[in-house]
Amino acid sequence: QHANTHVSMGSYEERLDSFAGVQHPIDPERLARAGFYSTGTGDRVLCFCCGGGLKGWQPEEDPWEEHAKHYPGCRFLLEEKGQEFVNNVQLQDPQR
Ligand SMILES: [Zn+2]
Repeated sequence: QHANTHVSMGSYEERLDSFAGVQHPIDPERLARAGFYSTGTGDRVLCFCCGGGLKGWQPEEDPWEEHAKHYPGCRFLLEEKGQEFVNNVQLQDPQR
């Protein structure tokens, strides 16, 4: 029995369903594919695997790149995109 009230969100379909009726600047299919589901609060999403939360999305942002930028240790991210992708995103990060 999980103390967590969320269902697992381990499947793409479950995550996509969480965006039903949610206005979001990013295509929900792209977010769901990158491991994110909607919390139902504004544009805030969570990763089902690492639990990392992201909000304040800009329309030009890529869900995978944001995932790699903020949560480079996520196991789902590394399995789906690989260490090289994560490294490249980290190197591109213009923030100091
Ligand atoms: Zn993650």
